[in-house]
Amino acid sequence: MYPLLEVNKKHLRKNIIELKRLCDEKNIDITGISKVFTCEPEIIQILIDNGIKKIGDSRIENLKKIKNIPIEKWLIRMPMLSEIDELIENVDVSLNSEIEVIRKISKIASEKRKIHKVILMVDLGDLREGYIDYHELILVAKEVEKMQGVHLYGIGVNLTCFSFVQPDKSKMQELVNLSKIIEKEIGRNLEVISGGNSATINLMLEGEIPREVNNLRLGEGILFGKERATYKLLPNTYDDVFILKTEIIEVKEKPSLPFGKIGKDSYGNTPSFFNRGVRKKAICALGKQDFDVETTSPLDKNIEILGASSDHLMLDITECSKEYGVGDIIEFKLGYFSTMRVFTSNYVKKIYK
Ligand SMILES: *Cc1c(COP(=O)(O)O)cnc(C)c1O
Repeated sequence: MYPLLEVNKKHLRKNIIELKRLCDEKNIDITGISKVFTCEPEIIQILIDNGIKKIGDSRIENLKKIKNIPIEKWLIRMPMLSEIDELIENVDVSLNSEIEVIRKISKIASEKRKIHKVILMVDLGDLREGYIDYHELILVAKEVEKMQGVHLYGIGVNLTCFSFVQPDKSKMQELVNLSKIIEKEIGRNLEVISGGNSATINLMLEGEIPREVNNLRLGEGILFGKERATYKLLPNTYDDVFILKTEIIEVKEKPSLPFGKIGKDSYGNTPSFFNRGVRKKAICALGKQDFDVETTSPLDKNIEILGASSDHLMLDITECSKEYGVGDIIEFKLGYFSTMRVFTSNYVKKIYK
């Protein structure tokens, strides 16, 4: 039964409704990003029921789970050359930055008599994916426009993911300018100008996004109510959609200092400790295979996370008013990476409330 993840459907629904309302005001369409919850159909259905019309994931494997749900599916990590067959079969739209890959998409999609939509990515400084040579981008756009089996759907940018460069008005304007150049070259409008991820929400709320930007790809914003640029909780949203319940398997008074010669940890570092005397400690049956320590916080504010190994989570419960014992359940609120880890762990059961 434990560890157990509880998904609060009501709070998730409220988050989606609020984000949808904010984006609708600016005529921005949302692509709901599902990689954090591995595209679980239960959650996808909540997104769809609340007005989301496009779903994006970084892995085809995840998108396959919703193959039979009729909604536009985006692959938001550039496809591998070796997975183009799978791409055409399972995905409608992909973000791209390599002409060699797009040529293969064109070839295979033509053979299968399908049309695959392509969004070209522009690197505006974060130094993850996308064309950084804008002249090259325009040449590629012209070539894609002429290809069989593919449709040039639009352009997009991703920021605040690797270098944590933040979106601003001038970067959004640059994206729009590039779209205008491409539109002039191909003699028609692009359908999608995708202005980034949850880190662009703040700019949108400040009214600093040019009106030509008509799409955002939102994961964290919807799931955790988080605005990524300042990391604040948005009004009328909830950050407790994902609650993890774990069971205590040991409670003992133990010193805060280990005894014996201390060696290196699994990362090659020597751990350090400081003396706080004897503390009351609990171990939960959960480990690094299942969750991420840094993005997990106990609901009982008096619990302190000491650390975790692959299968054990060590807690300091000295300050707690509740008397925890073996078999008791401790609840945690999960952030982005922890939720992702929980969903990929086969050891954690998932229920939807
Ligand atoms: C993960 C990802 C997103 C969603 O990011 P959030 O911060 O969760 O909104 C959008 N676009 C791309 C390309 C991504 O990889």
